[in-house]
Formats: sequence, structure tokens, C-alpha cells
Amino acid sequence: MQVYLETYGCQMNEYDSELVRTILHDGSFRMTPTLDDADVVLLNTCAIRESAHDRIYGRLGHLRALKQRNPRLIVGLLGCMAQNLKQELLATHPVIDLVAGPDSYKRLPRLIHAVCDSGNKGLEIDLSEYETYADVFPTRAPGVNAWIACMRGCDNFCTFCVVPYTRGRERSREPESIVTEARRLAEAGTKQVTLLGQNVNSYRFEATDFAALLLRVAEVDGIERIRFTSPHPKDFPRPLLQAIRSHPKLCKHIHLPLQAGDDVVLERMRRTYSQREFLDLVDEIRDTIPGVSLSTDVICGFPGEDDAAFAATEAVMSRVQFDSAFIFKYSERRNTIAQRKYADDVAETVKTERVVRLNALQKEISGSRNRRHIGSTVDVLLEGPSRKNAADLLGRDDGNRCVVVPGTGLDVGSTIPVQIVAASAHTLIGQPLAAMPRSTS
Ligand code: SAM
Ligand code: SF4
Repeated sequence: MQVYLETYGCQMNEYDSELVRTILHDGSFRMTPTLDDADVVLLNTCAIRESAHDRIYGRLGHLRALKQRNPRLIVGLLGCMAQNLKQELLATHPVIDLVAGPDSYKRLPRLIHAVCDSGNKGLEIDLSEYETYADVFPTRAPGVNAWIACMRGCDNFCTFCVVPYTRGRERSREPESIVTEARRLAEAGTKQVTLLGQNVNSYRFEATDFAALLLRVAEVDGIERIRFTSPHPKDFPRPLLQAIRSHPKLCKHIHLPLQAGDDVVLERMRRTYSQREFLDLVDEIRDTIPGVSLSTDVICGFPGEDDAAFAATEAVMSRVQFDSAFIFKYSERRNTIAQRKYADDVAETVKTERVVRLNALQKEISGSRNRRHIGSTVDVLLEGPSRKNAADLLGRDDGNRCVVVPGTGLDVGSTIPVQIVAASAHTLIGQPLAAMPRSTS
């Protein structure tokens, strides 16, 4: 059977799709890059905001038309939306034949065969306290970058967030399996790995905590850079910051999701830190890791966010001067604590206005922070062609800033010293040092 797999949402879903491809590599399935050739279409879905659901509903409309032409086509939903809506999806969308949640992928081959043979609908949605897929090493196209999932699930229950319900309890994958995956990637030519988890820095497997895990992965020859996402501000003990400071392979970039700057909103979100504690952590990070770059996530329009509370978020963003930020409108998720406890009482127009304002503020901050690098020399890992001009290469510096360099004579996968000659809010422009004209003075 030919299987077409489409992925929506975060890096964890991208990684899970790599797992699914590997699990389906059992002789009876073959992946196809073309929807029209498929016997089975799988959508690996996201549930984090309503817009993610809407995209899938739109895609299902298209698949319905396809299925009218080919009634034997099997349509399956995987991932967080599948786990979140379960039977409801099968009941309300007859085009769907099977639903499988994030802990059920090992049962997928059997499920697809059963649906195919019986013509019945299939459902696999049990969440596991143990499944880490530690015994499944994704087969993927070799590349400069790769993700490695090191823990799954989340126990934090931030009140706005659906993840603990769609991905279940927090569990860490054994370090040996993570290091083996990193070693195999290095042998295939990967230079940079990003360790993934919904709450990645709460990683713990027996005596190995997250700092120890990072240091173990850093021992793998051939892996030059190590990043991680998404951490929670509550799990940054000193040894972790010291490890990032001292090891050259650990990138000096920390994603530190703020979500809101007002104490009452933070408390209602159940983020477990106050504005003061967040700012103290930022100071401690900057004191410990000089030159570190910081990025963040912010939610606008959480229930009860009045003008003063929003102003507190603006003030924190101005004070911290993050290098970049992802800014979202609050989207009420069914069954979350916020949905049960609080009315979604900030008008849509106000949410939009706040997102626009914060994006404008952040654009100014990112631009001014990026411009400070003009004239400096940074090491850039070249990742591939630039999207705007295929003659240029796109890479990243240690702080995760995008750097565009003229591509002539350069190898993707190499790390080269580059002088920054221009900067915008999103990109730095660099000249490889060897290509810079020599000073005549
Ligand atoms: N674990 C990370 C943390 O603790 O911050 C975040 C992971 S979450 C999958 C990614 C981001 O989506 C969050 O940081 C948050 O800003 C955003 N998000 C989650 N739930 C949301 C919701 N209901 N509405 C809007 N944005 C949401
Ligand atoms: Fe969601 Fe992150 Fe909070 Fe976990 S820590 S509930 S993934 S926002």
C-alpha cells in the first residue's frame, strides 16, 4: 500500500512523522510523496490552537472530494487533534477511517490493515505512561539538522494548554538511546541536533538530568552544535546554565517562554513564576552565559487580561529585549482548566490589536539587537539555499540567528567565519571572511 503522510504543527510532530515512516517500513507499506498515488492518507495533526483544527477541517474537505473518486482510499488522523477529539472525529467526519494518538504509532500497521480488511473504522487512542519510542530510530533523509525527542508528555497543566491531555504524562527516554540516535545521525553527516520535548529541561532518567544529558550528547564526535526546545522557565538550575556556558557545542541560545508579564495572569495560567522571578532568571542567564540570545512565546488575550495586564507584558518585553518572539492570540481549548474556570472574555478585536502591537514592538527590538552584530565576526553553520535567492546560502549563528551569505564555493554543512555586514529584524547578512576585501590602510 502507498502511504502519503502530511505533518502539521510543531517539531515534535515532525519528529513523530519520522517515527511513523520508520514504523510503516515493514514491507507492506511504501511512502509516496504524491497524494494522488496514495492508498492511505495520514494527517499528523496539531491541536494547540483552534486555527490548527481549522486547517485540518479544510484539508478533510479536499480529501472528501478525493475519496469520492477513489472510495477505497483510507484516511487517517494522527497526533494531537486525533487524541483530543477521538471518537467525535469519526462520528462527525465520515471521510475519516482511522484515528491514532501520539502513543499508538507502533500499532498503526495493524490498525491500517484491520481497517482495510474489515471496512470498519479504527481507533487507537490509549495514552501510555511509558512509551518513549526509545527502540525506534527514525530513518530520515540525511541532513545538516535533525531533531531527537528526548522526553514526551507534560505534567505542568498550564491552564490554557491542551498538551497534557493530548500527549499524556511526562516521561523521559533513556539516555543511551538518545546518544545512540545522535551517534547514528553524526555518522550520516548531521552536524546539529535539537533535543525535543514539551517540557524538555525537566528531563530526568534515573540519575541523568537534563544538564547531564546535554553533556553526554556533546561527547558524540561529529555533532558540532546542540540545541533544545521547548524548555519551561521553572527548570533552569545553575548546573544547566553552567553547562551551556562552558561547553562549546551547547548553543548559547535559550527559548524562554514568558506567556504573560502580569502576575495575576501568570497565576491564572498556572505558570508557577511571577514577573519578578522571570526577570531574575533572565538576569541570572545573562550573567552566567555572556552574549546568550533569548527568544520567547507570548499569549495575548488570556481570560481577564485587561489593559494594565497587557501593559505589564509589553513592559517585560521592553525590559528583557528578547532577540525574537512568537506571539499568539489566546485560543480557548476544550477541557483545559482555563476553559472550565474562566470565560474567554477578551474580544477577538482586542486580541488581534494586542498581537499587532507586540509584533511591532518585537520587530523594533529584534532589528536593534540584530544591528548590534554589524561588523562582528560569527561562526555560521550553513544549512542550505536561501529561500529568497538560491544563489545565497542560509545558515545560523550560535545564537540561532539566521544569516544569509553569498553561496559561491561554500559547502552546506560547513561552519565558516562570517562578518556581519547588514541586519534586519529577521536576518543578518554576512560575508565569508575569506571573501572580504583586504584593508588597504
Ligand atoms: N512547553 C512550552 C512552555 O512551557 O512554554 C510550550 C509548548 S506549547 C506546545 C507552544 C506554545 O504555544 C506555548 O508556549 C504557548 O505560547 C502557545 N500556546 C499553547 N496553548 C495555547 C493556547 N491555548 N492559545 C494560544 N497559544 C497557546
Ligand atoms: Fe503546555 Fe508547555 Fe505548559 Fe506543558 S509546560 S502545559 S506544554 S505550555
